[in-house]
This record gives sequence, structure tokens and C-alpha cells, in this order.
Amino acid sequence: MKTIQDWIKEYPIISDLASVKEVFWTNPKKEPFQTGAKKLPLNENDVKDAEKRLKRFAPYIAKVFPETREHSGIIESPIVSIPAMRQKLSQMYEHPLKGGFLLKCDSHLPISGSIKARGGIYEVLKHAETLAIQHGLLSVEDDYSILDSQKFRNFFSDHSIAVGSTGNLGLSIGIASAKLGFKVTVHMSADAKKWKKDLLRNKGVTVIEYKEDYSKSVDEGRKQADGDPNCYFIDDENSCDLFLGYAVAAFRLKKQLEELNITVDESHPLFVYLPCGVGGGPGGVAFGLKLMYQDRVHCFFAEPTHSPCMLLGLVTGLHDKVSVHDFGIDNITTADGLAVGRPSGFVGQTIEPLLSGSYTVSDQELFKLLSALADTENIRLEPSALAGVIGPVKLLTTKQGKEYVQNHDLKDTMKNAVHLMWATGGSMVPKEIMDEYYKKGTIIL
Ligand SMILES: *Cc1c(COP(=O)(O)O)cnc(C)c1O
Repeated sequence: MKTIQDWIKEYPIISDLASVKEVFWTNPKKEPFQTGAKKLPLNENDVKDAEKRLKRFAPYIAKVFPETREHSGIIESPIVSIPAMRQKLSQMYEHPLKGGFLLKCDSHLPISGSIKARGGIYEVLKHAETLAIQHGLLSVEDDYSILDSQKFRNFFSDHSIAVGSTGNLGLSIGIASAKLGFKVTVHMSADAKKWKKDLLRNKGVTVIEYKEDYSKSVDEGRKQADGDPNCYFIDDENSCDLFLGYAVAAFRLKKQLEELNITVDESHPLFVYLPCGVGGGPGGVAFGLKLMYQDRVHCFFAEPTHSPCMLLGLVTGLHDKVSVHDFGIDNITTADGLAVGRPSGFVGQTIEPLLSGSYTVSDQELFKLLSALADTENIRLEPSALAGVIGPVKLLTTKQGKEYVQNHDLKDTMKNAVHLMWATGGSMVPKEIMDEYYKKGTIIL
């Protein structure tokens, strides 16, 4: 076994990671899309298949979740321009920031108010479809709004679903599964906020709480499902379905940018900053974006300084064989959506040839950004979701970021660049709690 000192000798960045300092890292294993894509276990057809499935479910979704009717049962979020926040960031970090600044508001996704309304709900729907088709109750040509009936709820109530979560995945899986009629158990880590547990219990979901972190709640969920053939475990650490549910976002995003007359091409690069926990959400979105835009898109992950699990997995090449605890890092952060100590091995390996880089942000900075975004754009996000918002500052001001721009011949195009920050959650946070977050940020500011 190598010691931490050995690791630091080999990869000096680990010294800063272990002392919970903010870092910016560029990925030495990134490849041109054409060669990188050959290594991937999934392809464009897999994403198209997921997109079609979501279309089949749209009539059902529209029927049982009225807030989705405006978009005919398609669970999607807007993209908004945030010029005032760009100005504020320039001022806060004392650096002129050029290019378009856009926010992808997954914080306002219907049903569960976070990016988990993509992958999480998708996997529940896919499981429901598979069961119903197997039992001869449904065919893909049907109008899926028939699922909203006592007959189907009775059928699904003989089946159960289990998941481990830091909060938001539990919300998505819990709400969607309970609506269909499944028995559902959410195993919640210590980070999970009380209001999320209360909300789920009110919907008839069984919530089991642990004193330990996310990895423990996942283990317990897996154990529950192993002992029961009628129980389906949604495996946030390894699931292709979750990943594909997230990837669909990219296909729709392309259309959204076209509608906004935003060009992405050789001379207009797109930079995307994605808050990362176990990796499925940001990994799935980044994978979809690379399929859409190949080398014209540059994807960066963002993690809290106290939970840089994906970054440690990528730097060391150990992926899920490494935990932040191995490097003396405590995995304690206010960014509950990102409070993960061990990354997904499946996502780390899949994303390795595609990812541009990754960086870490302190909790203190997340609060500052939270208040700044509320002040400038009147948009309120949960702390996790702010991790992406500092991305352009990191890219444009750090030595490693500037080298990335230089090495990719992007210097002349940066004035035309589009920076898209993925706002992964927030609209469900109760007002009193959001007010507290906001106040904390203004005090630090
Ligand atoms: C879950 C979550 C993420 C990250 O997604 P992973 O799949 O865990 O990497 C980011 N932001 C919020 C708000 C989340 O809930």
C-alpha cells in the first residue's frame, strides 16, 4: 500500500486536496472525441432509446404531475442568461469575464426540483414499464396514461423499490415510485436534510436514517434488495439507466440553445460546469453533451473541498477503489447533494477520456455565490448547485485553467465562448431554510 506521502510525490495536487484547499485540475487522459468515444460502453442509440421512453411516459406524467402539463409531460428546465451575475463575479474575483454566461435551471425541474428528476425518475419509469410489459399489462404502443389507475397501482404495490441517497435522489425516486403505487424505501445518509425526509414520509415513503454517510446508506439499500426478489434496487453507484436518464438532457439542450440563437461551433466553444457527487448526474450530462458537440464542448466537474471523491478517483486512477477518508478528508460539507466520499467506478471510467477537468470549491464560497446569485438574478439555489457557478472564474483565472485554454487553441475564441453553469437544485428548499442560507452568504460577502 502506498502512503499519502507516496501519492503526493506522484501527483502533487493530492497535497492540496488532502488539506482541503481549492484546486483546478485538467485531465491528462482526455482524448479527442473520435478516439475517446470508441472506449465508451454506451452510445447515441442508448440515449435515443431513453428519450423515446420518456416520450411514451409523457401522457402519464402530465396526468399525475400537473406542473408538467405546460410541457406536455416532458420534465425539462429552462436556460437563462445571467449577465448581472457575470458582472458580479468579475467584481468579486477581480477579473474581467468575457463570453456568454448561462444558467441551466435544473433547480426548477418539475416534480423534485433537482437534477435527480432526470435520472432518478427515468429509472423508476423504466422499471415500471419493464414489469408491466413482462406481465402482459402494457405494450409500448399504449397511451401510458392508463398507468394512472387502481389496477396498475395494485399491481405495482406487490413490488418494492429501494435506494440510498443524500437526499435529492431519494426525493425523486420516492415521489415517482409512490405515485405509481410501488412500496418504496429510501435509505438516507446523515447529510440528508430533515425537510426532505419529512416530505417523503408525508407521501407514504419509508425513510430509514443512518448516522453514517452516503456509502453506508447505499450498502444498506442494496442489502435490503438482495434479500427480496420483488425489490428493485436503484444503484446510484453503478446504474446505466440513471446515467442515460441524465444524458437525455444534452439532446434537449441542443434544441434549447438553437432556439436561443446561441451558436456552438469551432469559433464558439461551449464550457459546461457540473456539480458532482457520486458522478451519475454530471457524468450522464457530460456524456450526452460530448455526443452532441464532440470537441466543441468542454466539460468540467465541480466538487466541495471536503468531498472531492471523483477528482481523487480520476487523479489516482483508482476510481471507486478510493475514498476521501483514505486521504484524511472528512466528507463533511453543507453541499448535501455532493456529500459523497467514494465515486462511481462506472462513471469515472466512462468519463475519463471525455472530461476536460475538475475543480473544488469551499463551502464558504458556495454560500457567497448563493447570496450573490439571489441578489443579482433573483434565482435561489441550494448550496450544491452553486459549485458550477464559479467554473468560469476558475478556468479564466487559475494557471491550470489558462494553460487549458492555451493548449486547446482556444485563446482567440474565448471572447465568443458560452459558459453554461448547471444549477442542479434548489426550488424545493423551504423558504426559512433558504433565507438562512442567504443570510450566511451575505455575512461572508
Ligand atoms: C445529486 C446531486 C448532484 C450530483 O449528482 P451525482 O449523480 O451525485 O454526481 C449535484 N447537485 C445536486 C443538487 C444533487 O442533488
